[in-house]
Parts: sequence; C-alpha cells; structure tokens
Amino acid sequence: MEKLSQKKIDKNATILFDSVGCKLNKYELEIMRAQSETLGMVPLVKQKSGDVVVLNTCSVTNSASADSRRMIRKYRKHNENSYIVVTGCYSQTDIEEVKELGIDLILNNMEKAKFFDIIKEDINDLDDLDLQKQSIMSSVKFQSRPFLKIQDGCDAYCSYCIIPRARGRSRSVDRQEVLDQVKELSTTYPELVITGVNLGQYEDHEDYGLLELLKDMVAIDSVKKLRISSLEPNDLTPEFLNFMVENEKICKHIHLPLQGGEDQLLKDMRRHYTMEEYTEKLRMARELCPDFCLGADIMVGFPTEDDECFEKVKENLLALELDYFHVFTFSARDKTVANNLSQRVDPQVKKQRNRWVSDLSSKRKQAFLKRHIGKTFDAVVERSGKTTGFMKALTDNYIPVIFETTEDLALKFVKVRIDEVGTDKVFGTLIKIQNKEI
Ligand code: SF4
Repeated sequence: MEKLSQKKIDKNATILFDSVGCKLNKYELEIMRAQSETLGMVPLVKQKSGDVVVLNTCSVTNSASADSRRMIRKYRKHNENSYIVVTGCYSQTDIEEVKELGIDLILNNMEKAKFFDIIKEDINDLDDLDLQKQSIMSSVKFQSRPFLKIQDGCDAYCSYCIIPRARGRSRSVDRQEVLDQVKELSTTYPELVITGVNLGQYEDHEDYGLLELLKDMVAIDSVKKLRISSLEPNDLTPEFLNFMVENEKICKHIHLPLQGGEDQLLKDMRRHYTMEEYTEKLRMARELCPDFCLGADIMVGFPTEDDECFEKVKENLLALELDYFHVFTFSARDKTVANNLSQRVDPQVKKQRNRWVSDLSSKRKQAFLKRHIGKTFDAVVERSGKTTGFMKALTDNYIPVIFETTEDLALKFVKVRIDEVGTDKVFGTLIKIQNKEI
C-alpha cells in the first residue's frame, strides 16, 4: 500500500469503480463494491464522477498498460477533488509511472482483499457507523453466476505473460474458506463459476489440489452446478476428465487455452505441451462426452510466428475439435522474455490472422449449436430484470437459449430443449423447472 496524499473521505461518500482487463479484475471490483457498502458508502453505477474512485488496472500487454494509464488520467481530470485509489497489475508492474498520475492511494493485488480495513482508516467520523463486518460474499450482487476466486498468481512464466510478475507467485484460498463461500452462495445461485489465474495450481497443503476441492464442493447438497472457468492443458488429466464427465454437478464445458497452434511456437511461448498432447486431450473429452463444449484461447502474431509457421497453425487449428476460439493478438510487453525476441509480425498481418481465426471460430460455434438442435439440457435462467416473457438460460454446455415463460424464473435451475439456431441467437422450449414437470 502506498498513500500519496493526506486526503480523507467523508462519511456516506459516493464511490465508483472501473476496471481494465480480465474477469478476475471485474470480480474483485464486485468484492470491493460490497465492502464499500458495509462501510456506509454509496456505490454508483455508470457515472463519471464520485467522491471516491477505485480503478482496477491491467498490464498484460503494453496496450493494456496504456489503457490503464488513460483510464486513470480520465478519472483524475473529471474528479479533481476525489479520492482516487488505483490497484491491479499495472499499478504493480509500473508503480513509479502510476505515482506520477496524481492519485491518492495505490493498493497491490494482494491488498484488494483488505480494501475494507485499509479504506476505513481514511473515513472521517467512522465511529458512528455500524461496522459490523457482515459476510462480504453475501452482500455481493452478482448478475446470474457468481465468480468464486480460489487462486491468484501464477508460477508458469509463459514467455509473453507479465502475470507472474504482476500478480506474483501462485497462492490459494484456504479450502475451508472456499467451501464456506460455496455453501453460502449456492443457497441463492444455482451455478457458481470457479475461477483463478491458473486454477490447476490450486493447492491447500500436500495432496489437496483442485480435484480434491471440487470433490468436496460437489458433496455440498445445495450446490447444483459448478463451471470451471479455464484449465491449463497439462491439468486436464484422465482422472480430472473422468470426474468432469461422471459428475453431473460439473458443467460440460472446458476452456483449455492453447495459445500457440504449432509445436515450435508452443516452445517459444514456453507452453509445456505439444500439439499432439493437446489434440489427444480434446479427443478424449469428445469421446467421453460428445456434448462437451470445448473452447480455447489462441494468440496470433507472436514474434516467431512467420508466414510458414502460420500456415501450419491454420492446418492444426482446422484439425482440432474445438467449438470456439477466443483470439488474442500478441502485443509486446516490457519485462517479458518475448519482448526481447528480435522478430516482429507486421501489424496488418496480425490483423488478418486474427480475422482468420475469428472467422473459423464463428463457423465452429454455429456448427456446435446446430449439432444440439432437438436435445434437452440443464440450464440456469439469467437474472435480467425481466420477470416473464422471453428469458435467457445458459445450458450446462455453454449455450445461451432464449425461451418464453409466464413465470418469473430468474436464477432457477431448469431444463430447456434447443429448437432453432439463428445467426446470433438460439431459441428453445422450457421442459422442466427444477423438480416440476411442465
Ligand atoms: S499460465 Fe502462462 S499465460 Fe497463464 S497466467 Fe501463467 S504465465 Fe500467464
């Protein structure tokens, strides 16, 4: 923590939050928002100014750092007298730059969790407030599926990634704390998304890793569905896959980041698997459960991805049984190994490659959706503010289905049948509401 001004916060101050970067950053902002409410502050939504402004930054690429810088400058300009807190990866990797931006407090990634205790010191006349520290999790207002963060940091050091430096070594939340949160959240939410920077590195003492934790989670009666946000390929072992397939509380959706679509590229990226190994994981998953939704992150434009290499990437991607790709374009990041490589891919070429993979992804997604017409799946109805009419449910295998209902089904666990696939929407019929036949 670094305090850069003597500014204080009035009781019942308004507070607004903004972030750049990954889902974890958004999740952490939700937690801080909940903590600010317990301090008597008034969180604002979609406003440009507040008495306190909390900005969660990212530095995964140089352009993410630039976006973070722009965000801080913009809020400082429109909030001359506000108390501005900056946290997140950019404030950790480039702290000296952040200090120059005229803000009031810097919190590192570890300190976000202590937001309540740190900020409370700067609120005037706080004695009058009822500071009964209620459960932070219970007051977090998640849309439909809470993200439950069980791990932070990473020990992998992929050559293009700043995260191990920005978020530090892997650290796991104590298993009892996780299980208590799961118990609490699952009484309201039928689906929880289990998340972390590198989930496979979860560890609570020897011999208790992610698989053991998931087994304890599914044993909790109130838990209906758990979605694993993402898993590194080497962590999808046959044992793990069998557990996913056999346990009906685990969503049939695997996001398995591939990143480089060719063996030498994978080596240059310091990803520790080959295309053959990756392909075999997908094959096993598909064989054990044909309805699995299988997705991956792909990075294009890595410095050593020359034209010949990209031709092989195309060939390899076409052969993979993936249902969607999240495409990222490489952008150099200071303080990473990849930044020191002498080669560079032309920005226009990077754009074309990104388009090629995105187009392939759209085709795969359509094919995946069409393959499931006529089938019925478990799904969770989203909370959208509407109570009847057309509502949206997300199936176990990641298909957003629109259906009509006369009952308020927000956050209900249902079964839906997929009837029709449009260009960007899927329509279906409600078959069952929890234990009630229709
Ligand atoms: S696994 Fe690699 S890409 Fe993912 S956070 Fe760790 S270092 Fe970064």
